[in-house]
Amino acid sequence: AELDTLDILVLSVILLGTVAYFTKGTLWAKQKDPYANPAYLNGNANRVGRTRNFVEKMEESGKNCIIFYGSQTGTAEDYASRLAKEGKSRFGLETMVADLEDYDFDNLDTLPSDKIAFFVLATYGEGEPTDNAVEFYEFLNGEDVAFSQGGGAEDAPLDNLHYVAFGLGNNTYEHYNSMVRDVDRLLTKYGAHRIGNAGEGDDGAGTMEEDFLAWKEPMWAALAAHMGLEEREAVYEPVFGIVEREGLTPESPEVYLGEPNKMHLEGASKGPFNAHNPYIAPIAQSYELFKVKDRNCIHLDIDISGSTLSYTTGDHIAIWPTNPGDEVDRFLRITGLTDKRHQVITVKALEPTAKVPFPTPTTFDAIVRYHLEIGAPVSRQFVSTLAAFAPNEEIKNEMTRLGSDKDYFHEKTASQLLNIARLLEHVSNGETWDKIPFSAFIEGLNKLQPRYYSISSSSLVQPKKVSVTAVVESSMVMGRKDPFRGVATNYLLALKQKQNGDPDPSPFGLTYELHGPRNKYDGIHVPVHIRHSNFKLPSDPAKPIIMVGPGTGVAPFRGFVQERAQQARDGINVGRTILFFGCRKRTEDFMYEQEFEEYKKALGDKFELVTAFSRETSQKVYVQHRLKERSAEIGELLAQKAFFYVCGDAANMAREVNTVLTQIIAESRGVSEAKAEEIVKNMRAANQYQEDVW
Ligand code: FAD
Repeated sequence: AELDTLDILVLSVILLGTVAYFTKGTLWAKQKDPYANPAYLNGNANRVGRTRNFVEKMEESGKNCIIFYGSQTGTAEDYASRLAKEGKSRFGLETMVADLEDYDFDNLDTLPSDKIAFFVLATYGEGEPTDNAVEFYEFLNGEDVAFSQGGGAEDAPLDNLHYVAFGLGNNTYEHYNSMVRDVDRLLTKYGAHRIGNAGEGDDGAGTMEEDFLAWKEPMWAALAAHMGLEEREAVYEPVFGIVEREGLTPESPEVYLGEPNKMHLEGASKGPFNAHNPYIAPIAQSYELFKVKDRNCIHLDIDISGSTLSYTTGDHIAIWPTNPGDEVDRFLRITGLTDKRHQVITVKALEPTAKVPFPTPTTFDAIVRYHLEIGAPVSRQFVSTLAAFAPNEEIKNEMTRLGSDKDYFHEKTASQLLNIARLLEHVSNGETWDKIPFSAFIEGLNKLQPRYYSISSSSLVQPKKVSVTAVVESSMVMGRKDPFRGVATNYLLALKQKQNGDPDPSPFGLTYELHGPRNKYDGIHVPVHIRHSNFKLPSDPAKPIIMVGPGTGVAPFRGFVQERAQQARDGINVGRTILFFGCRKRTEDFMYEQEFEEYKKALGDKFELVTAFSRETSQKVYVQHRLKERSAEIGELLAQKAFFYVCGDAANMAREVNTVLTQIIAESRGVSEAKAEEIVKNMRAANQYQEDVW
């Protein structure tokens, strides 16, 4: 039969398709995207092919100031960028921001004395360095540190090094700001010279931002005096350029619509899965543990069987959230970007040492939805920066006032838990802020951070299914029509609602793009990675354990008890297992009640659940009261080297428990409180006392 034109057309298309299939599209793929960002070739390609010598890097790029950060949740990184920006705009310093994990430190002794290094260091958990600062810290702490020019401690090998230091800590932890304190001590020990005070910010007191602001002014004055810098009128200079890509649409395969890196863009996610590369995990099941009025607590089982991920009981899982659609819309509306939201853009660092914090080409919508922390509290300094771009003079004056007056700022904005878009809306009364360069947001807002959850299952019982127990963050705020809602927990709630086909999902929940970029999260998936922790059961199951975990603090202990129940069923000799659990009312928020009864059947007298219900009696009863009531028994068990665990609220509960424990030890051993405190310290050092608090 003759072929007509249509047949020929169809055949050609099929042929083209076949060629495309077998060549994976390489035949007509563009040679190389001139705007491509090499940092995102894969999960951690930014390490490949770059120098690890920071002195050389500074030399090459004409910098005289390097700002290192050790950051876990992004705040230290944010402060580092802000210092870099301010150093440049106010004092003409040639600054660069540097991730501690990207460089080696044996040549700290070769930084010329007319240059300066900043260390912005968060302390994580029990006085540990953040993940990206581990190598740096181990190097400085090494028994026999060897600097490149061979000097030992006595010869003050770092005599050339001038540095500035700021720490981010939490006074509710035992080792408050130990990272900055240790590093400062070690640098001084090796002869380096600190400029200004070593600042300390306190997250526990909720004053981090203000501590930082109060520290940096005298520091700048000291640094200016030391380096002979002259202050000038700060002018905003963007760090990133935005290039509109006319040839590309959101459908173009090379455009990132929220995919975290190139591997995700190109296909199924491949391991290793870590803080740079999440696994898109199916949620096996999800349900409500309790719901009282607006307070929800949810349980999720996340299936990691399709991945190389593994965990052991007591580890943490990180959930990578997506911003809620209505807040994304609000942000795009107030910044005048609604019409352009799907415009494909490339973001380019305008100077060689800056890193674009997400892969591009992408769209404004994807950046705001998947990569920027648009829900977080706004820093006062950022408000000052934005004043210059106000729609009119009056709004500008108001922004300047908010930026400079701490109390006024608190009263007007912070007390209402406003995020950036809400703050801009509030100050301009809804008028659009279309003069703000988009770069300012990339610089001024944090990267959207994964949230950590204490895994609430046992790896012995369900090695490929990770349980999460999360209470949904939602609170009514005076002066606001709608409640404040936490980012990750409401995202999880929305996933739970979708999975269960809940008849009445909240309107807020409905706005999440739960199917993810290019529908890659469809069928109820959530991006995750796992972080191993030191919060562990004793290796000998016969050792007694005492656990204190009120509220969601019970999470890891569900895992601990689940594990011991299984061991008991397997005929293993399990030691005494006491769990102190507290909540408001037995009938309201007593989670896993039935499950604990099942574990009790397996463990018999070995297991005891001690409960404290704070709202059932006129006198509030908390876990620490129950602990006190059981002083004699606890003292006895501790003498038998029982392990003692605390999980949950760092600010109040963990402290009170620590105090009660000290009293118990003082009484049971007949020693002074001071001596008992020392014993508790030693227990911590020996891992006999472990905390998992947040
Ligand atoms: P976010 O949006 O991050 O808000 C959290 C808080 O930040 C708010 O309550 C508010 O105080 C403040 N905030 C946010 N935005 C603003 C604003 N615009 N203005 C002012 N203040 C603001 N949680 C659990 O439920 N279960 C667990 O097992 C658990 N384990 C954890 C283990 C570890 C090691 C850590 C570090 C944390 C753990 N958490 C756990 C807490 C959890 O990681 C999250 O912090 C929590 O779920 C809230 O996340 P979110 O994104 O919903 O809220």
